Amino acid sequence: MVGWGGDRMEIIDSHTHWGPSVTMGIEVTTEEILSQAEQSGVNRIVIFPFPSMALADEEVNRKLLEEAERVKKFIPYYYIPETMKPIPDGKGFSGGKWHWMRGVQDSSSNYKALEDPKLVEFIEASEKIDLPIVFEEELAFTETFVKKTNHLKIIIPHLGMLGGNPIDFLHAFRERENVFFDTALSSSGMIMKFIEKIGTQRILFGSDIPFGMMKWELEKVLSLPIGDDEKEWILSKNLKRLIGLT
Ligand SMILES: [Zn+2]
Repeated sequence: MVGWGGDRMEIIDSHTHWGPSVTMGIEVTTEEILSQAEQSGVNRIVIFPFPSMALADEEVNRKLLEEAERVKKFIPYYYIPETMKPIPDGKGFSGGKWHWMRGVQDSSSNYKALEDPKLVEFIEASEKIDLPIVFEEELAFTETFVKKTNHLKIIIPHLGMLGGNPIDFLHAFRERENVFFDTALSSSGMIMKFIEKIGTQRILFGSDIPFGMMKWELEKVLSLPIGDDEKEWILSKNLKRLIGLT
């Protein structure tokens, strides 16, 4: 990290998973995330719970929030349960995670969710709270959802890779100023294609721990052929603006 002077430019990882995963039978500990952050020169880290049916109960959101109160480097996001409960206001969450609502994770969206009357309430409440939501679904689902919103800020993880072809996501949301993307697990070449079309102010650095290594994911962004000012948007300024961090 020579030349980056760790304390001059802040780096925030906008996408990590914290805590136990029931389905994977693993647990990502605070120590693991902090040690990767230390090695990478990352100052703050967004954490959200693993997707799991157990999340129908609020327990894991509460535990995650408590951990973020204890560990100041953590920025907690709320896992939106299948009841479509919006991010609770004033509790300390800085964003939300919407993950294949009632569908099959990384594979197929459940389009019935788009017809649920609760969705209207969810969008209304979320726009009022005005925090970003990391939103992962198939492209067609995401397009319908975004059309229902007005100014809700959503962050599409992996440049859309798990919901379809990133280039299709790019074309679909190129003109939508409230749609952002994170770089986790995507290639440098694809990140550059996005930068060429939408600039650097709608792209966020994310590692997707434990599926990605923070150091490697960061290195990818640091080695992009763009200026340091441009990198700073991706590395921290965009996220800070989204969640109102100073
Ligand atoms: Zn992830």
